[in-house]
Amino acid sequence: MNTSEIQALNDRHVINTYGTRKLALTRGEGVILWDADGREYLDFFSGIAVCNLGHAHPGVTRAVTEQAAKLLHVSNLYYIEPQVKLAEQLSAHSFADRWFFCNSGAEANEAAIKLARRYWAQQGTPKPEIISAKESFHGRTLGAISATGQPKYHEGFEALVPGFHYVPYNDIEVLAATITPATGAIMLEPVQGEGGVRVPDEDYLKQVRALCDAHGLLLILDEVQTGLGRTGTLFAHEQADITPDIMCLAKALANGVPMGAMGCTERAAAGFTVGSHASTFGGNPLSSAAALATLEALTEDGFLDGVRKTAVLFHAALDAFAQRHPKSVVEVRGKGLMVGVEFQEPVMPLIQKLQEAGIICGPAGPKVLRFLPPLIIESEHIDRLLSVLESCVGELGW
Ligand SMILES: *Cc1c(COP(=O)(O)O)cnc(C)c1O
Repeated sequence: MNTSEIQALNDRHVINTYGTRKLALTRGEGVILWDADGREYLDFFSGIAVCNLGHAHPGVTRAVTEQAAKLLHVSNLYYIEPQVKLAEQLSAHSFADRWFFCNSGAEANEAAIKLARRYWAQQGTPKPEIISAKESFHGRTLGAISATGQPKYHEGFEALVPGFHYVPYNDIEVLAATITPATGAIMLEPVQGEGGVRVPDEDYLKQVRALCDAHGLLLILDEVQTGLGRTGTLFAHEQADITPDIMCLAKALANGVPMGAMGCTERAAAGFTVGSHASTFGGNPLSSAAALATLEALTEDGFLDGVRKTAVLFHAALDAFAQRHPKSVVEVRGKGLMVGVEFQEPVMPLIQKLQEAGIICGPAGPKVLRFLPPLIIESEHIDRLLSVLESCVGELGW
């Protein structure tokens, strides 16, 4: 099918929650994508921070094809070998002692919210309330939008799940003042993604951790976007030199096979007992095998060093771009290869122009251009992006 045939079928049969996209990508290899009409693109979005190892990664492809030929699914009524190996490996590379597997970021956050509530209920001192941040994004299920501090995601879906309080991100005083005896957990993204690629002050997460310790609260970090190497370390919280009690993962976990996970300490894990939570597909043989191969590649010696080096080049290139366009660029910000460029103008026309010129990237709110390239990009790709960006900005007269 060509692009217009795909579009016609979409417009007739798919519920229109995503709007018009004008593009159907049908094949990928590394950092390159091809559309249904055979045009080539350079990927600076990774399917929203999912394909961190790039497209058609040989190790992941091999793991998926081998597992698909062997066993796709049996349910969690049985032990699953790839799942237990994955849990072991995730624990070896993080603070978390125990894992619950699901299929998406929203579900990982649902699991975290349920675990936090049930943890306190189990203690005999229910503390059902959770403090999260304004401009946050935690997913689209009812619990996850209730945790999300952006009214646009709530509109028309009320009544929301009660018990959430939103505080300004990166403001420790307001956060401290919002804690009550009913507060059981604080839930944050280490870097806000969807809400505009917002990086908190150096010591913010450390102060939040200290606040949680002082009040005995559970700290939930939503690393769905920041996790799995995106910010230059396997998990973003490593750079703040803290550990949470609960961490949510999804997006890049299986490099494109749908998968979510919630990891937690032994103490927090006591909140869930037999029968308290479940998922039919969660951690099934296919997604677990893909995640195992993904984690193996991400933790290979030197891989994350390479990501950090590339990130330095990328930030320097974008900073130089910003200096050439002081009137149109407000700020370049981000961590590792999670980067936002805030413009004075809405960025959708720029994203469209970049797409026409063969670059795939996306927004983070109306005025922020968001780059989430595969972590395997090289300096030549950054050079190509910058030269295309320069000419697109020029065409817009910015
Ligand atoms: C994408 C995202 C989610 C939601 O993940 P889904 O897989 O779409 O449910 C949750 N939290 C953060 C930080 C995200 O970036």
